[in-house]
Amino acid sequence: MQFFDTHCHIDFEHFDKDRDDVFHRMQEAGVNRIVTVAVELEQRERLMALVEHRENVWFSVGIHPNHEVQQEPTVEQICELARHEKCVAIGETGMDFFRHHVDAEVQALRFRAHIQAAHQLQKPVIVHMRDADEACLRILDEENIEDCGGIMHCFSSGWLSAQKALDMGMSISFSGNVTFKRNDKLREVAAKVPEEAILIETDSPYLAPVPMRGKRNEPTFVRHVAECIAEVRGISLEQLAALTTDNANRRFGLCAN
Ligand SMILES: [Zn+2]
Ligand SMILES: [Zn+2]
Repeated sequence: MQFFDTHCHIDFEHFDKDRDDVFHRMQEAGVNRIVTVAVELEQRERLMALVEHRENVWFSVGIHPNHEVQQEPTVEQICELARHEKCVAIGETGMDFFRHHVDAEVQALRFRAHIQAAHQLQKPVIVHMRDADEACLRILDEENIEDCGGIMHCFSSGWLSAQKALDMGMSISFSGNVTFKRNDKLREVAAKVPEEAILIETDSPYLAPVPMRGKRNEPTFVRHVAECIAEVRGISLEQLAALTTDNANRRFGLCAN
């Protein structure tokens, strides 16, 4: 059985002390592909060093909607940094009104720049949407996200938003919060997302799934997310693993082997 963790932050300092062990455990657990996602442009060197000697690790280029920067990136800048054979996506980008570090208009302009870069490079966009569904989905629509595609990462909204994103050809990725006791509604969404559009992730080091809740998260734990979703969809873990891995490979333009 093989799993694909489509969203983690394995370069973060949380893993500085035992990163090799984390990779080893991941391999042992059958989590044989991951994308380690950028939240700021300065990270790129670090991410490139990480993916360089590891066949099964890819990265993205982008600035998180809530990350404060001196200067907003231009489309050209994002394109320039993302031109690398192991850079498989643009992001994470999007809209987040839960934390108001960055002004909504600045977030919107930044988000549009990321999508425009993704169009030029024909890479998918990794979208972070929190308490900002209307604004986020409107921008995806106005910027013709269908032309490059993307992923609604750590999805935590209702079915209506899921459906709008799906209508634009987006994939929907679920993280550890789908396993949380109170999140029945989210599990209902996870049960309904069409087979070809569903993905799994950890968003490690954050949001460790039940039964690891409260601990530092790591890619190995994506299995718990998979188990939860397999159960609500009434399919086997093997089927769910194969399905989500195929979907991730297709979304990121990777060969199956
Ligand atoms: Zn995020
Ligand atoms: Zn993230």
